[in-house]
Amino acid sequence: MAIDFLEAVLWEWNSETEEFYISPKIKNLLSIDKENIKLLDLFSYIAEEDRNELKLFFDEMIKDKIIDNFSLESNMINDLGQRITVEIQIRSNFRDGVFIISGMIKDITEKKQQENINKAIENKNRLAVEGSKDIAFWWNVRQNVISLNKRIREYIDFEGDKDIVISYTKWRSYIYKDDLSEYDKQMMKIMSSKTDEFYSIEFRILNKNNEIRWLESKGKKTLEKNGDVFIFGALSDITIRKEKELENNFLSYNDEVTGITNRRYFFKEVGNFIEENPNESFAVIFIDLDNFKYINDTYGHDVGDLLLVEFTNIIKGMEIENSLFSRYGGDEFLLVKYKVLEIDDIKSMLDNIIKELSKPISINDIEVFCTLSIGVSIYPSDGKDINTLLKRADMAMYLAKINGKNRYEIFDMNMLEILNREFEIEKRLRVALDNNEIKVLFQPKIDTETEEVIGFEALARWECQALGMVSPKEFIPISESSGLIIPIGNYIIEECIKKCKELSLKTNKKFKIAINLSDVQIRSEKILPFIEASLKKYDLDASYIEFEITESVIMKYPEKNIEKLKQLRKLGVSLALDDFGTGYSSLSYLRILPIDSLKIDKSFIDGIVIEEKSEYIIDTIIELSHYLNLIVVAEGVETKEQYDYLKSINCDLLQGYYFSKPLEFADAEKMLL
Ligand code: C2E
Ligand code: CA
Ligand code: CA
Repeated sequence: MAIDFLEAVLWEWNSETEEFYISPKIKNLLSIDKENIKLLDLFSYIAEEDRNELKLFFDEMIKDKIIDNFSLESNMINDLGQRITVEIQIRSNFRDGVFIISGMIKDITEKKQQENINKAIENKNRLAVEGSKDIAFWWNVRQNVISLNKRIREYIDFEGDKDIVISYTKWRSYIYKDDLSEYDKQMMKIMSSKTDEFYSIEFRILNKNNEIRWLESKGKKTLEKNGDVFIFGALSDITIRKEKELENNFLSYNDEVTGITNRRYFFKEVGNFIEENPNESFAVIFIDLDNFKYINDTYGHDVGDLLLVEFTNIIKGMEIENSLFSRYGGDEFLLVKYKVLEIDDIKSMLDNIIKELSKPISINDIEVFCTLSIGVSIYPSDGKDINTLLKRADMAMYLAKINGKNRYEIFDMNMLEILNREFEIEKRLRVALDNNEIKVLFQPKIDTETEEVIGFEALARWECQALGMVSPKEFIPISESSGLIIPIGNYIIEECIKKCKELSLKTNKKFKIAINLSDVQIRSEKILPFIEASLKKYDLDASYIEFEITESVIMKYPEKNIEKLKQLRKLGVSLALDDFGTGYSSLSYLRILPIDSLKIDKSFIDGIVIEEKSEYIIDTIIELSHYLNLIVVAEGVETKEQYDYLKSINCDLLQGYYFSKPLEFADAEKMLL
């Protein structure tokens, strides 16, 4: 009974009777059920690597009846398959002439682990991490235990203040679940790697405050003499570096202003997509904000940035399925639409986008219009690599700009020709003024009542030496996008003022010459001083001059442009709203625009006698304009029916082929004189 109280297991072997006694505690030690345990049985529990040595030793002892007293350390494997470390004491002597071997078996697994901890600390020294904040650890792979330096308590809750020893399974439970599979994968790799090879892995753990910390585990696998596999290493906290890295990563793939992915990400993502799905069609959509530069220049970069954010939010808010939206740079964005089945789906999606942006966007109490020019290319028909697709979407976008902005174009091979023509025109246009190729024609405006000429609209003409006659519908947009409209426009303004002065000296009749002003011209800071100086130079009364501005030009930046127009009007010139009815057409805006007259667009005049709707619109415009004291001009009048109808509803002025085409100045002035 006394023996039962002992921690250790006692045993005795009689060499004469070969009787073997072992105290019942052995059952606990080895987790066995069996009663009658033989000496040979016991040997079978000794770990393989220790067994033979021990057996040999024992046999020698018996054979020569050596009297000795010693202890040795050995590993045993219990019936649960767990490895335990034991200290075996052996003592031999003669009792009543019989050679007896007896001893004790003591479980020293824990003590051994403590020793291993010390070894790990030693190892830690070898890893040269002493003095740092690193947490040394060792992990006995076969025994499924891991011991960590007490500093691990900064991360996980654990009683006591010594180094901790926990099962590896428990340790795994601290690892952040998203990182577990990668962690296990890395561990497998380490297990199958050569020993003494250093490894390094990074993973997150949720610390006791439920914060994510990044740890780096560095170490190496070693094989102990007894066959145990150990990983010795140290954990270091790399949270700060990792967060910086992630931030850099975020920044390198995300746009700082809008937060959406950037051009780099776009290239990476789409490149991968093509590689993985070479047979799946998708659309690359190049989006350019038409008036961003202007808004940036006039309201400042903060407003510009906010507009980009607003725009991004609008597109994101549309929740376009299977798409990737990135900022390409500046005011250029890229939308990739995957799973494209029909080009019509793309078209209706783009119609929606343009519609979404037709409403003014308010930023810091400023209302701005943000129209888009959009170009589309389709994989794989328009290009098999991302660079070609991008270049062609960009080309299509450029054409959308030339074709009047606020629209989209889908790339087709003809565009290459069209663009060639564009580049050719731009190239020739650069020398057009120097070559005296630009001139101005004058189209009379008629008083409906008296049928007398009351003025002219100046219309630019370009007869290019190389290309022949080029229509203003073709070269004006190109001159706008290239900035050439400024010198060309100035030339026309000066030419008109000069001719106007000439004519004013020839007649007492009052008349006006109307000059078209484009968007780019109005925005120019130098336009007002130039007009003022030209009027002065030719000593012309400003009331002879009128400027025509389209409503879409004004509505792009209403406040800014209205201010500019007011200043222009202060010079004494009059202003006409051109192409009325084709743009934003806010009748309520008519009240606040500083204009004198309004030109009903030809498309409505074309509908006279053909379409009741057009007539109704014309009637309404005239009525409203007269109420607002505006002069109404009908443009593009070609037939007698149109003329009769317009006269019957009191349209003030008429312009069109029915009366006269645009004429050389010499011919035009004859109509007045
Ligand atoms: P717009 O200002 O609307 O000019 C009226 C256009 O209609 C002119 O075309 C004119 O020739 C044409 N037109 C006049 N009556 C009739 C008619 O009865 N039937 C038809 N079918 N057409 C008629 P044009 O000269 O080709 O000019 C086209 C556009 O080019 C102008 O439209 C204007 O926006 C722009 N443009 C022309 N000259 C200048 C200029 O000096 N400066 C600027 N900024 N733009 C100009
Ligand atoms: Ca005009
Ligand atoms: Ca017009």
